[in-house]
Amino acid sequence: MNETAKRARAAIDLAAVRSNVRALRDRAPRAELMAVVKSDGYGHGAVRCARAAREAGAGWLGTALPEEAFALRAAGDTGRLLCWLWTPGGPWRRAVEQDIDVAVSGMWALREVTGAARECGRTARVQLKIDTGLGRNGCAPADWAELTAAARAAEAEGTVAVTGVWSHFACADEPGHPSIAAQLAVFQEALKTAGAAGLRPEVRHIANTPALLTLPEAHFDLVRTGIGIYGISPSPEVGTSQDFGLRPAMTLEASLASVKRVPGGHGVSYGHHYTTPGETSLALVPLGYADGIPRHASGTGPVLVAGKWRTVAGRIAMDQFVVDLGGDSAEPGDPAVLFGPGDRGEPTAEDWARVAGTIGYEIVTRIGSRVPRVYVDSGIRNEAGGDSALTGGTA
Ligand SMILES: *Cc1c(COP(=O)(O)O)cnc(C)c1O
Repeated sequence: MNETAKRARAAIDLAAVRSNVRALRDRAPRAELMAVVKSDGYGHGAVRCARAAREAGAGWLGTALPEEAFALRAAGDTGRLLCWLWTPGGPWRRAVEQDIDVAVSGMWALREVTGAARECGRTARVQLKIDTGLGRNGCAPADWAELTAAARAAEAEGTVAVTGVWSHFACADEPGHPSIAAQLAVFQEALKTAGAAGLRPEVRHIANTPALLTLPEAHFDLVRTGIGIYGISPSPEVGTSQDFGLRPAMTLEASLASVKRVPGGHGVSYGHHYTTPGETSLALVPLGYADGIPRHASGTGPVLVAGKWRTVAGRIAMDQFVVDLGGDSAEPGDPAVLFGPGDRGEPTAEDWARVAGTIGYEIVTRIGSRVPRVYVDSGIRNEAGGDSALTGGTA
């Protein structure tokens, strides 16, 4: 462990990422897999996770921001890569020059990308996005005929190639939700309209991780999976990560900064929301909300210390929180495991999500830049379990 990782570290198991990508590909055998590595790989490190996903057969990578896509190119990735969150005046030309597929949700974006393509004398790879009901990004169905016709005209002129038609679900994490079938029907219509306009997209796609896991009819040519490659279930309704042979890739651990005996009746942390019930030992965990530990988990967050689950005692502060060890003992420097895959008795990110009233996505994505990522390789090859002790080098 390097010195900066002594306070706390997020160990990222790249073998788990590879194993998850393989498990997900097995569930969508006719589709290509896009590994979504936006927001620094959901907090796991975009470049390392992208590389691991490619090794396990991801044909595509996906990011939200163009800057995130450029960072992958700068790190040497040369494969297919889609980036979807654009605003007017965005770096279209750079994306075209770097062979990045770009999402287009409206006429303004089509105008900007064709302009950029003309400027640099290249053909832009464009993926048209239809809003099939999410009500977020994507072209409104009423404007779809105009957008597809204009894209076809730009193809004829040689400035763009429409490589994809795609959309995104609102409620795929609630299997059986009526909006799912409704969105699929709108998507089928949009594909017909695109076909009638003369477009022949290479990939049609709508599935995120929950749709990949629960809805084979939504796989089409490509599945965009983010949370699944990091080994976390999208929602309790979809199931647990173990149900799908997925293994959480991130283990968040700290070294106890202090352990001390205090008498009963001692208030703990801001506001004294916890008072020691009797003489006890308090252990100080040097992680706080500035590191992404949700303050909403004050008094409820689970932590493995000295072989047992403990609960955060009192408020989570900016940089630290306390656990009450009861009658047990520990030493400064001993490990406190906030979450991991769960098989050494530690809580999981999904456990933290439950007590904080949020989703596993937010727990891992918010882990801050003060927490160094340490890359390990457990050597696991699939979900079959077995010994998963983290071994191997750090980076
Ligand atoms: C984040 C995102 C995904 C990945 O979603 P998961 O639920 O993490 O698989 C897919 N598509 C789009 C458009 C996204 O923004």
